[in-house]
Amino acid sequence: MLGNIAVQEIDKIRPILDELSRKIWETPEAGFKEFQASDNTAKVLEEAGFTVERKAGGVTTAIKASFGSGHPVIGFMGEFDSLPGLNQKATTDKDSDNPGAYGHGCGHNLMCAAHVGAVIGLKEEMIKNNLPGTIIFYACPGEELLTGKGFMARGGAFEGLDCAINFHPSKVTEVTIGTSTAVNSFRLHFKGRSSHAGSDPQNGRSALDALELTNVGINFLREHVPEDVRMHYIITEGGVAPNIVPDIASGYYYVRAFSREKVEDTFERMIKVAKGAAMMTETEVEVEFTGGCYNTMNNHVLAGVVKEAMDEVPQEEWDEKDLAFAKDIDKHNPALVESLQAKYGLPEGMHLYEGGGAITNFNSFGSTDMGDVMHIVPTAYCFTGCTSLGTPNHSWQFCACAGSSIGEKGMILGAKIMAVFGAKLLNNPKIVKEAKAEFDKAMNGRTYKCPIPKEIPAP
Ligand SMILES: [Zn+2]
Repeated sequence: MLGNIAVQEIDKIRPILDELSRKIWETPEAGFKEFQASDNTAKVLEEAGFTVERKAGGVTTAIKASFGSGHPVIGFMGEFDSLPGLNQKATTDKDSDNPGAYGHGCGHNLMCAAHVGAVIGLKEEMIKNNLPGTIIFYACPGEELLTGKGFMARGGAFEGLDCAINFHPSKVTEVTIGTSTAVNSFRLHFKGRSSHAGSDPQNGRSALDALELTNVGINFLREHVPEDVRMHYIITEGGVAPNIVPDIASGYYYVRAFSREKVEDTFERMIKVAKGAAMMTETEVEVEFTGGCYNTMNNHVLAGVVKEAMDEVPQEEWDEKDLAFAKDIDKHNPALVESLQAKYGLPEGMHLYEGGGAITNFNSFGSTDMGDVMHIVPTAYCFTGCTSLGTPNHSWQFCACAGSSIGEKGMILGAKIMAVFGAKLLNNPKIVKEAKAEFDKAMNGRTYKCPIPKEIPAP
């Protein structure tokens, strides 16, 4: 099989990949502060003979590691940031030595090491099989903040790429052609005038009133937006005591939809609501743009190649320990296990996915900044089972699985699938041309425009 050399190489370097994944898991870092993860990852790739560029695209913790020359140029998009509040031991009950701290509740430790494994394996395949082309590993920071790849794109990190692949740890092994949402996130800061709420209310101008009226307005706006639009918010500051008219108040907002156009349109309307509320209350409002990304746009040609790779790479068996771990952790969420079994037609009693890969077409109202890359070059987006079926996304359970042998087995499978995918593309560049034709048709003359305003500097 084409890709066999890569698969064998990944088995050979497995201790290095497990160690890298474990190190990242043990020292979870916030988005754009992945200093240790970035350094550890860069060192592994330097030792493996890659040309490593740090601060790729002007983003401090981003890495670009290349091997080979000429076209096609394939990008392997790793991530390594973690999530606040999800610190967890690799155990089946909620437990942490540092509760509330950052933790790998999205499994990006596995994700980073899988992409590293894929390119190191593929490099071996290229050398032994004389395959032309260039492979580039990217470590993309700040995915959970949905801006890492936008900043990298703005800094030119993805220039020259022909196509890309992204693997994410999941519950099920699949390559998706479904869409996830584009998003803008922002904070509104209202400024009014403080006064005694009992004796002098007429002289107060409440920033909290403005914030509440904004939220009322946004809730009325829901009726008049396309049905895939989602708007959510929290109040982050609303005054200090009921007897003081609050002079400052702030809220944090998300708007999502299945296209950038709808997000941008609704975003403008939400800002109008806020300005209207400020006018009504004689306060001032400041908009702080915090992030934005594109919806995902998957490529059917590349998805087909990933599916072929999934069929060719055998899945390592789950052992007794893995099965017992999964069954025990799933006791926390039996409803999710049942819904997953129903969604994918899996047998009752299954807690760890097995059964090969599938091309699925489920849309998701979540968001990922992979959407940005997908609007720059044709991209494949794939997953392997790295957690139990009852593991929610962004949860302590996910963190536990990502630190266990279950996560490591899923990670190795992901690495091999991507390496075989890469070998197929390098061996037959015609596929890349077909993928590009599909991409051009889908873009329909549009070009990628970074959603993050120029005034916001890269971290
Ligand atoms: Zn993630």
